[in-house]
Amino acid sequence: RIAVVGSYGVGMTMSASRIPEAGETVLGGVFSLGPGGKGSNQAIAAARLGGHVDLLTIVGPDAFGDQARQLWAAENVGHAHVRTGTGATMIGFIMVEPGGENRILVAPGALDELGESDVERFAGEIAAADLLVVSLEIPLATALAALRAGREAGTTTLLNPAPAVPLPREAFGWIDYLTPNMSEARILADAPGETDPDRLADALRAGGFGGALVMTLGGDGALVDEAGIRARVAPVRAPEVVDTTGAGDAFTAALAVRIAEGASLAEAVGFAAAAGAHAVGRAEVIPALPHRSDVDALLAG
Ligand code: ADP
Repeated sequence: RIAVVGSYGVGMTMSASRIPEAGETVLGGVFSLGPGGKGSNQAIAAARLGGHVDLLTIVGPDAFGDQARQLWAAENVGHAHVRTGTGATMIGFIMVEPGGENRILVAPGALDELGESDVERFAGEIAAADLLVVSLEIPLATALAALRAGREAGTTTLLNPAPAVPLPREAFGWIDYLTPNMSEARILADAPGETDPDRLADALRAGGFGGALVMTLGGDGALVDEAGIRARVAPVRAPEVVDTTGAGDAFTAALAVRIAEGASLAEAVGFAAAAGAHAVGRAEVIPALPHRSDVDALLAG
């Protein structure tokens, strides 16, 4: 069983020949709309990979919130504790120029209302879970309360520190598995400008993180550091790199599923790398999240 605490939101993407200047209207954009949010993405991927998943997040009293519940029902994601807040469902506006450069504006809306009392309502699920997965697209105090609740209940905890913010040092004591990418690791380690994964890992250790570190390195795979043993995990070759959005969520979810199943960390990271490779080969987010058979097929070569 996996308990997930994180965000849900809808992305509205518009690609156009150029970004409008102030006061200007540009016609000819191409629009697409899709569900996302790190918590929901990770919950859906974990369920597709075979996990028994329960999600805590919040939506708005609007059509996007209703669609989210339909999505979770179709994907076998438990959502009995998802609350409808007063603000709107989180929305991201993404403007994409021809070169692929994007500009993103996010309105958290109802997500700002996800609070510690929601974590308390979810305490039974956290205690019953083999693993608690938390990400940071929600108020920091709520994410920290969830990790602390996991620690107090004796549930293994995983933090995907995205989007990254500096964490209070005591929070490191509540995290068993930490899955930053390099730019997130730089923020957590307070090491701006550090580009060497080993030195970043050292900086995180020096900053007081004692749990298992799994740093994702994009097309270079991952670095694993646990109990003084450090290793590089090679990437699984993606048949084609189409869109890297969702790779980190697929990776985190896959790692969570295998850890909850009792696999070794090395085995879990290998499985996660294949899940990430699957995601980069597919456009959009939800369609890119792998099923178990996709990952097994990639690992079988
Ligand atoms: P994020 O999206 O959070 O920045 P990464 O880009 O590091 O995360 O990707 C997460 C994981 O997905 C990587 O650790 C790797 O295993 C896999 N991955 C990402 N990009 C590629 C790629 N080009 N080829 C193969 N695997 C990839």
